Amino acid sequence: TISTLDIIATQKQNISYKNIAEIDYLTGLYNRAPMNEIISKHFKMLSNHQIHSLAIILCDIDNFKNVNDTYGHIFGDIVLSKVAEILNIKISKFGKICRWGGEEFMLVFENHTLEETLTCLEQLQAEIREFVHAIEETEIYVTMTFGVACDGTLEIEELIELADHKLYEGKSAGRNCIVS
Ligand code: GH3
Ligand code: MG
Ligand code: MG
Repeated sequence: TISTLDIIATQKQNISYKNIAEIDYLTGLYNRAPMNEIISKHFKMLSNHQIHSLAIILCDIDNFKNVNDTYGHIFGDIVLSKVAEILNIKISKFGKICRWGGEEFMLVFENHTLEETLTCLEQLQAEIREFVHAIEETEIYVTMTFGVACDGTLEIEELIELADHKLYEGKSAGRNCIVS
């Protein structure tokens, strides 16, 4: 039989990385510290006109507490790492991703129009919604809510705050949506 750790280890082998301290153990994604550095670098490139646009997206799994409460924390871990894998594969051409904390991820897209960004996120939202997580005889589905910030006049902290605000708006509006 395959254990949770085997599944997670297999997924992590597909993600290349340099510094283990910068990597989230469960998902194999960057954690917050390297992402903060990436954002700072991107902001410098934006002010030097080396890139023309920057979008910060915060996305969070909907009602994830229910998954843990109903199916257990270990199954929750498997769902979380699968969602991370789907996100990572889909956005690799658009930008960078990290596990921002808990069941929340940050995406940073460079040089994409808002329209391109939203198209990518709509596809991503559908992929996540349609993915079947199976536990014993039960099939479960999860959805995600996305908050998108791409206002070129804002400072780093303001842009992150805006993405967080949009995410909160999406949660209040009933979840499983993209707010920009
Ligand atoms: P919302 O749609 O408003 O985001 O609801 P939610 O239930 O997803 O949000 P809430 O903040 O109430 O709960 C988040 C849950 O995510 C609770 C926490 O235990 C779980 N969680 C966070 N990190 C992990 C993890 O690494 N593994 C597992 N299994 N659960 C986690
Ligand atoms: Mg959540
Ligand atoms: Mg959360």
